[in-house]
Amino acid sequence: MAKRVESPSSINTFKQCPRKYFYQYILKLPTVPNIHQVRGNIVHSTLETFYDIDVTDWHIDTFPLKVREAIQRLFLHQWRQYTAKLESLQLNKDKERFYFEETMLMLLNWANHFVADMQKTILEKKITVQEAFLILTPIREQEFQSQALCVKGFVDAIHEVDGQIHILDYKTNSSFDFKESIKLQLAIYSLLYYETHSKMPSKVGIFFLRNKLKWLNVDQTLLDLAKREIEFIHAHTSSFEVIEHYPKSISSLCKWSTGQCDFYATCKPHEKVT
Ligand code: SF4
Repeated sequence: MAKRVESPSSINTFKQCPRKYFYQYILKLPTVPNIHQVRGNIVHSTLETFYDIDVTDWHIDTFPLKVREAIQRLFLHQWRQYTAKLESLQLNKDKERFYFEETMLMLLNWANHFVADMQKTILEKKITVQEAFLILTPIREQEFQSQALCVKGFVDAIHEVDGQIHILDYKTNSSFDFKESIKLQLAIYSLLYYETHSKMPSKVGIFFLRNKLKWLNVDQTLLDLAKREIEFIHAHTSSFEVIEHYPKSISSLCKWSTGQCDFYATCKPHEKVT
């Protein structure tokens, strides 16, 4: 059987629950959209388009205000672009306002960090606002695909800082830990970058938008972790395609106080087998 093209999401789904992987990636059952995914898309689109704005009239005294204005304007535009998707979630007006305001605060938090980075870059390199903006503009939404590894992934931002490569992902999570799933995602990005450019990135990180940027150094151990996990999933999913080989991993992620696994109704994890 040919290898499937995996991704950090599919590998983490398999590790969380093989049955969930089977439903999502082999049976391709539809997933249920939720506010966290839609909000994530809005945030990513806002940050991606931020770097395309015209900054020619930005001035050293006024640019912090311009950054905050731009991010609010872009966010409002993206929120409107997603009106149909937001309506399909059938949130009540209070809930929708809550998510709108919370997301705005996350983006303003990011904007404050960006302003601080701009000020530091201008001061250290003795350059103009426009030059600093150019230096801090990353490569965005880059797709990497490795034929050899049979893995692909989308990287949110790649920064080149004094000859070093820094890979960055944005997250709206409420927890700010480098959980195993996040570490594996970053390890796979590092490996994909290395496979494509024959150069190891120096750092990979997550911008936790409610909090701050956190980095992880890239080394051979991190790349080996990614290789091991990729080989493990290929060995399993290339050999088996029947449901019995994808056991349920019943946990608190099946059902919780405010939601449930997308496949809960099909899976019936808590039903007694007679
Ligand atoms: S409901 Fe639980 S056991 Fe079933 S697929 Fe989802 S996570 Fe796995």
